[in-house]
Amino acid sequence: MALLDIQGVGKRFGALQALEGVDVSVSEGSFHGLIGPNGSGKSTLLKAIAGEHLPDAGRIGFRGQDITLAGPAERARAGLSLKFQITAVLRSLTVYDNLLLALQAASGVGPLLFSRTRRGLHGPVMEQLDAFRLADRAEDVAGVLSHGQQQWLEIAMALAARPKLLLLDEPTGGMSPEERRATGELLQPIRGHCALVIVEHDLDFIKDLCDVLTVLDGGRVLDHGTVAEIEQSARVQEVYTRRA
Ligand code: ADP
Ligand code: MG
Repeated sequence: MALLDIQGVGKRFGALQALEGVDVSVSEGSFHGLIGPNGSGKSTLLKAIAGEHLPDAGRIGFRGQDITLAGPAERARAGLSLKFQITAVLRSLTVYDNLLLALQAASGVGPLLFSRTRRGLHGPVMEQLDAFRLADRAEDVAGVLSHGQQQWLEIAMALAARPKLLLLDEPTGGMSPEERRATGELLQPIRGHCALVIVEHDLDFIKDLCDVLTVLDGGRVLDHGTVAEIEQSARVQEVYTRRA
């Protein structure tokens, strides 16, 4: 059974059919890229998975549960994590405290226990900061991090709840080439235990990172397959040349 099973999803904004008959299947632990021209419905699809836009047709199944109309809390409990939505970096808190709060929220510990769990969570906080190249920035307030480092902190926070699926919409937007390369590396360790659905403009980045790609065009699935299959797809090449 697929981890995420999207069937016939449609979303209309007034007269505009932003998504129509979209089928996507994401296996447990796999990295799935969403590509397609501007306005093809990539962000709308991520938002439908996250519950920010409810689809007006079709069904979204997650770990065998119908989450098409589920609220954000229910989705988070089911193991879904959307960077930007469920987590938000507090710029005036230290990098350390941001991650500590995310881990505390994930472990469901109330603020009364703050002083005790602070010590208990020190190991996990430092481990996660280390994994995201932020250990040496632990005591800095999050607001002074570079754009790329803030993105990494958000991803680290989104992973605190040990989700089964992470959704990222253009995480490398505005990053330097070096930060972009590092982002690909930082995501590798989650492979196998947390699936990823990622939207990216940078085709080289997404081809290196992902196992499977779905190509959207005009709100419909134009093609899907392995990176090698998509690279060979005449339909996909046609769309990219048409828009170039
Ligand atoms: P992509 O992420 O692939 O660039 P989007 O999913 O953001 O595309 O948008 C798909 C289409 O839906 C676009 O034509 C966009 O203008 C439209 N759209 C997206 N969000 C809204 C909204 N909240 N209200 C109205 N139209 C929207
Ligand atoms: Mg978008």
